[in-house]
Parts: sequence; structure tokens; C-alpha cells
Amino acid sequence: MARRPIRIAVLHFAHETVTFLKNDTTLDDFIYKGSPAKGEALLAHDPKSYMGGFVKVELVGIESPLWPKAGTGSGWITRDAYETFVGRMISELGASGPFDGVYLSLHGAMGVRGVLRPEAELARRVREVVGRGAFIVGTFDPHGNEDEEFLRQADMAFTVKYFPHYDSHLQGERAARMLVRAIRGDYKPATVTQRVPIISPTVLQWTGASPWMDLVQRALTWEAREPDVYVNFFFGFPFADVPDVGMTFQVMTNGNPALARRVADDMASAAWRQREALLGSAKVHTIPEGVALAKAAMARSATPVVLADHSDRSGSATWILKEIIEHDLSDVLIATVADARAIDALKANGVKAGDPFNMEVGGLVDESAGAPVRVQGTVLNAVEGYGQLWVVVKFGRGNVLVLSRYLVQVMEPGPLSALGLDVSAFKAFAIKSRVHFRRGFDDSGFAKTILLVEPVESFLGTVRLDGLPYQNVDLKKFYPYGEPQFP
Ligand SMILES: [Zn+2]
Repeated sequence: MARRPIRIAVLHFAHETVTFLKNDTTLDDFIYKGSPAKGEALLAHDPKSYMGGFVKVELVGIESPLWPKAGTGSGWITRDAYETFVGRMISELGASGPFDGVYLSLHGAMGVRGVLRPEAELARRVREVVGRGAFIVGTFDPHGNEDEEFLRQADMAFTVKYFPHYDSHLQGERAARMLVRAIRGDYKPATVTQRVPIISPTVLQWTGASPWMDLVQRALTWEAREPDVYVNFFFGFPFADVPDVGMTFQVMTNGNPALARRVADDMASAAWRQREALLGSAKVHTIPEGVALAKAAMARSATPVVLADHSDRSGSATWILKEIIEHDLSDVLIATVADARAIDALKANGVKAGDPFNMEVGGLVDESAGAPVRVQGTVLNAVEGYGQLWVVVKFGRGNVLVLSRYLVQVMEPGPLSALGLDVSAFKAFAIKSRVHFRRGFDDSGFAKTILLVEPVESFLGTVRLDGLPYQNVDLKKFYPYGEPQFP
């Protein structure tokens, strides 16, 4: 008898929702050229990420929204946006079945108005359509907030282990392989989800430092010594005010619930033992402190220096720029200060290289952005790219400011050369990034000194989470804001 080919439906719905932002993520934010995508366009949309690893079996791309236009720069996803896309997914899934498996390409930190656990809810509705006979697998970002509910609805999950997220492609491959094995009866998922009452700001979660690195290694050790064991480590995303916020481990085994329990307990208690060190894994300076330390590092040639304002969620913050001007630093690249108004005005005036520049830039969008700062210099370059105009301004003693229209997280020095800059000419780089910059500035060996900074006030993005207006989370139930009993 000819064997019917395995059919797997593929759905994508991902966002890392900063619920404290005032601008909701609306239906319209998910609709743009290329999104929603279905069929081959969906399967090919991000070849270096999960889906690229996944596309090795016969797949049916169900129409799915790609990331919203605002990226991570928007708040709560509206109920309308969520229901519209999930509704369409579920009806297409029903109409194009039956399926042996469903792959959900997710993030895990999605916040939807009126839907408590949006990823688990999607899995629940998918289950209603495909039944218990089909297998459901999800891929996740380590910044997901997930509790027991997802694996109650779905069979398996695979989470990126490194931050920066180096292994998303690998996790996509695993998800594909394990889904096919489960469908063929070669893997019978027995899973455990274990929450750990630790909440941590994302800037501390770099897996290049202990003990974050040690927990990743511990998970890898379990995976290496026990065939068919997979350990997911959700660091959690504290900027979403959702009930399942915080740290979670998921363990998958091949039909061995006792082993899953043992590994989950081991991972959770290892994390709990290290809780103090987890919260102290990186030093975050005030901006004046950071700029003074940068100046000292430059004086002793410990360069290039990275000054990373990890907390700026709008991209418009001027705190570092102001301090650099006041301390008369030289040879610093500031990339970027986002200022839509300035960029639009410069564009309207036909800005070009060689123009004199004398403008107030940045600030204002909210209190965390600070006040505008006057910069006087010369336009070095004005470049259109990635859907925005970039204006490069030379000022002071060898300093360069890059103005952009939107928030830009500079992750690697190389691409800055597209703005006509010689990156080797700078002694310091003042950027807006929490951990992603480590990809190109730290893990690459580029920078000799790295300084994390944030303003004195507890603005959105701060490491002082008790400064945020949580409504759905009681911080006292989490270390370090309370002393919860664990295990
Ligand atoms: Zn992430």
C-alpha cells in the first residue's frame, strides 16, 4: 500500500509585546506588503530563522501575519488583530486538512488585550480543529512568558537557548525532525513544565556570562547525556504585564515522565540556587557614570568602547548624547537618535552631504526620551535605506551622530559602513541595544570595553522592574522583589 505523504500545516504569529507602551499593536500593523503571507511565501519568509530550519518536509503554509511593522516598538495587540488572524488560520486549517501535524512559529511574549495566554490559546483552537490524533509543535524565543498551559494544548516546544538568539535555525530543524518522528510513532512526547519565581530584566540575560551561560550548558548537558531529552529555558520577558511572566523550564522526553520531572527539577533548582548571581550578572551604570568610565577607558586606549543605553525603548533618548557633549568626548559614534520630526524636516529641505547642521534633535516622545539636544556640525551623508532616511552629522572633535526616523538597534559595526562611515575611526560607539549588540561588538571580539547604561529614573526598559506599573503581576511573588518559597 502506498504511504500517504505526511502533511504539516505551518502557522506563524509572533510578537514580543511591551504592554507598557501606549500604542496598541493593531490589525493594520500586521498588514503590509508581504504580510500576511501564506503558502511558499510564508515558508520562505525568514530562511535563517526557525522556518528555514523547518522547511525540510512537505508543508502547507497557512495564511499568517509576519511581525508587525512596529517590530517590538508597540504595545498590547488588540483583540481585533488577534481574533482576525486566528479566526482566518483556524478556518483555513479546517478547510485544508486533514493534517498529521501542525507547526506553530511563535515568540512567547505576545500580549493580547483580553486573552491571557495567547500562544496557548492559539494551540487550543488548533487542537480543536486537528484533534488529538495530530501533533502540534511550537518554536519559541527565550524571552517568551509561558506557563503549563502551552504544553497542555500542544505536544512539543523548542526554545532558542542563546541570547543573542544564535540558534533559532537549529531549533526549527529540531522541531521539524521531532514532529516527523512523533507522527511516525518514534517519539511519544512526555513533558513537564516547571516555573521558577525569578523575574529579570532582559539586559541581564546575556548567555555569554555566568550563570546564564551555566544554565544553558546544564540544559545542553542533559540533552547530551539522555537521548531524546530536550530542555527549554524561558528567561522570561518582564516588559509584558501578563500572568505567566517570569522564568520557566520545559522538558520533553520520549515517553518518560519521571525523567522529564527529574530534569525539570534539576534545572529549576539550579536556577533557584543561582538566583542572586543571575540578577547580578551585569553591571548597569547611570549615564554620567558610564560616560565617565568610557572617557577613562579611551584615555588608557581600552578601545573601542561600547556605551549601550539598553533602556531606550523609543530610540529617541538623548541622555548619552547630552553627556557626551558636556564631557567633550571625541571620536564617538552615536547611533542612533530617532527623531521623525527632524528627519521629515531635513528630507523636505533636500538635506545633502556638506550642508551645515544646527538643530535640536531627539527627546520629547515620552519622559524616557529626555529633552532635545542641540547639535551643530556638518552633514556627512544622507542615505535612504531599510525604509527610512538616515542623516549622518559630524560634530565636535571627530564625533558623528546618526539620526534615524525610527528606533534602531545597532547590533554589528559592519553595516554602519553603508552610511559612509569608517568604523575603525571611532574610539567609542554609543548605541541603543540591550544584548543583541553583543553579536557584533562582543562575541566577535570587536570591543575592548563594554558599558551598559540607563537613566537614573526608572523609565520603561529599566532594570528596576518595581518602577513599572504592573497590574497583572504581583512582583512580590518573584525574586528579587519578594522571597517566594521554592521549590
Ligand atoms: Zn528574544
